[in-house]
Amino acid sequence: MRDSEETGKLRYPAAVAINGSRVVMPMKGNTSLSTITALRDNPTAPQKFTDPDWTAKGERRAKVGLTKLDTLWINTGTLCNIECKNCYIFSSPTNDALVYISAEESARFLDEAEVAETREIGFTGGEPFLNPEFPDMMEDALKRGFEVLVLTNAMQPMQRPRPKERLLDLKARLGEKLTMRVSLDHHTRSLHDDERGDGSFDKALEGISWLSDSGFRLAIAGRISLYENEDEGRESYRALITEHGWDIDADNPKQLVLFPEMTDIDDTPEITTDCWGILNIKPSEMMCAHSRMVVKRKGAGAPVVLPCTLLPFDEAFEMGETLEEAARANGGMFERGAVKLCHRHCSKFCVLGGGSCS
Ligand code: SF4
Ligand code: SF4
Repeated sequence: MRDSEETGKLRYPAAVAINGSRVVMPMKGNTSLSTITALRDNPTAPQKFTDPDWTAKGERRAKVGLTKLDTLWINTGTLCNIECKNCYIFSSPTNDALVYISAEESARFLDEAEVAETREIGFTGGEPFLNPEFPDMMEDALKRGFEVLVLTNAMQPMQRPRPKERLLDLKARLGEKLTMRVSLDHHTRSLHDDERGDGSFDKALEGISWLSDSGFRLAIAGRISLYENEDEGRESYRALITEHGWDIDADNPKQLVLFPEMTDIDDTPEITTDCWGILNIKPSEMMCAHSRMVVKRKGAGAPVVLPCTLLPFDEAFEMGETLEEAARANGGMFERGAVKLCHRHCSKFCVLGGGSCS
């Protein structure tokens, strides 16, 4: 999921997007292979990403504080109408590891986000339109004046009569702050359907056309295959956009968000406090410096706050049941609300890969 080209807060392309989102891992533009190689530890070292404060080499682990809660992500649940090959959150029609959050639960976090003067509420899944209370959550967020970003595959769940009716109503009343971002995994039917299943390309196109014809503010999250560069990919998406007459500016990276194909690395170095200087990266560029995500686990009594969209299943990164608790989280993976980068995703997707999800 995924970024942020979307918000322009990060200076490099997103590595991970969700809902409509595969896991991808580009190298950051200014991160040379030699730098990464120089940082890399012994691939077989068993104790990497174990001690929250120290790396396996005994160096001080980097951490990232929240500069401002600019985007609050609300995960609506992991259930999805399809099962993409590389879905980072393992969504499927049967995976309810993250259950549907309710509108009431969402509202409690929106209350806190108002106090924090949060700019944007992002909704992601799974497929948000499977959650029966999702339209109420959207309406609540829009009524409060937040920018609302919805990540959807725009397929059957969104295209049912009732969700469409609610969407049209919301657009008429509150639509100026609503952006629908549809994942179109590739501009070719063959690669898209290979990833997402037969017929998924045509169904997504149907949804995008409906959104465009209905006048929604629209964006596409696409992917560049290993066999094309960004310019080629953008041109091909442009041709598709033109062919279908969608109201999307292919030159605008917020309207056509392109994620590189994943180049996976089995091993990844730990991130120390020295890495910021070595790599010329600022902690404030990490997603966890300006975002949090709320999830509700199956069997849990209440939703919890996580540092970002990239660590949905690691319970060690639960910051508390409210944003206020999250801001004070201390001990383990946190220090007075700051996040210790003690997960391989921190290295692989963020510091070295440039991951984000908005
Ligand atoms: S459409 Fe569903 S399965 Fe595919 S990437 Fe998005 S959330 Fe995952
Ligand atoms: S994966 Fe780690 S570095 Fe990246 S946003 Fe999440 S907590 Fe921050």
